[in-house]
Amino acid sequence: MKYISPFSNEIHFPKRLALMGATGTIGTNALNIIRNSKEYFEVYALAGGKNIEKLAEQANEFTPKFLAIQYKNDIPKLLSLLKANYKPEILYGKQGYSTLSSLDEVDMVLAAQVGAAGIDATLAAVNVGKQVALANKESLVLAGSFIRQLAHQKNATIIPVDSEHYALFQCLAPHKNTDKNVKKLILTASGGPFHGKDKNFLKNVQVEDALKHPNWKMGAKITIDSATLMNKGLEVIEACHLYGVPLQDIEVLIHQQSIIHSLVAWKDGSITAQLAVPDMKLPICAAFSFPKMLNQENNIIADLDLTKQSLNFDKPNKELFSCLNLAYHAFTNNICIELNAANEIAVERFLQKNISFLQIPMLIEDMLTYANGLQAITLNNSTIESALALIDERDNLIREKAKKWNN
Ligand code: MG
Repeated sequence: MKYISPFSNEIHFPKRLALMGATGTIGTNALNIIRNSKEYFEVYALAGGKNIEKLAEQANEFTPKFLAIQYKNDIPKLLSLLKANYKPEILYGKQGYSTLSSLDEVDMVLAAQVGAAGIDATLAAVNVGKQVALANKESLVLAGSFIRQLAHQKNATIIPVDSEHYALFQCLAPHKNTDKNVKKLILTASGGPFHGKDKNFLKNVQVEDALKHPNWKMGAKITIDSATLMNKGLEVIEACHLYGVPLQDIEVLIHQQSIIHSLVAWKDGSITAQLAVPDMKLPICAAFSFPKMLNQENNIIADLDLTKQSLNFDKPNKELFSCLNLAYHAFTNNICIELNAANEIAVERFLQKNISFLQIPMLIEDMLTYANGLQAITLNNSTIESALALIDERDNLIREKAKKWNN
């Protein structure tokens, strides 16, 4: 099956891609798309982390010219798993990721690493004016204004690979002068596995319960973020940066069916929504085919049977799922680096069964209180190197403190 219609001459094909975070859920979905559209897309570089077996398997199939992994020590193992006569260049660490995402030959970078670890590659790609298919929302959370400024200077394009933000993109795309006519953006949230539960129930939930997302198959970190509603908090920040809207013009609604992926409310009282079965192949494929729309003759995802849907909406319970408010607080007070670092450690400790589900927001709140007493970090007009150094320093400070947190 072909996913993409033949394009005009504006872009040369095949489009050369560098996939960062290739072994994760988004990376794997991306390769499924490319496998069926090889005349349009070429995998030029693949970057993974510690899952060397999976990266080797992907590399043997797609034979990219460049590979990158997290640790130098894993290079011999990777080499031993590659097929005979296939000799890619292998890089490692942050420097390796940055090199891959800024290669001259690469047309588009899929930034799909997990967490703050993705920011080096994102900045490197933006800095050389690439098209960036951005699944690593943490990049925008950590340095959204800086990335916007840099993208503008370097003529880079950022296309969201997040179902809600792609839905907004699709709702907004046909309209001109949108900023004048938009009343608000409405991000939907599935609510995760614990929507509607009370505090007593949440006291006792286990890691295994939190990992059971009702609608989406995703990695562990984002699945826990989804259960706490921190994912929606990060996505609100992401939307503010992507679409240049103030926080108060974004509303979050719980929509458990995950069929409406987001909505735009207009000043005339109408609302535009995007509906689709929950499948990340849609935003990934849309980003890859940018600036063209997808070929409407060929389905990327399953058809949605509207007769089988009932669509419900609720307000989020911000008292119980307080991560949403913590994200708003962090954005308003310019402490998003601290928010993200605290959240990453809190999720890691929860996954290790070291803290409880309800301790996740408690840990983050304490870190934000501490962060409020520190000097806020301003990145605008920094060089990339100094911006990364500032982020890294603050990120580490909070991580170390969050690892020792007890209540
Ligand atoms: Mg999302």
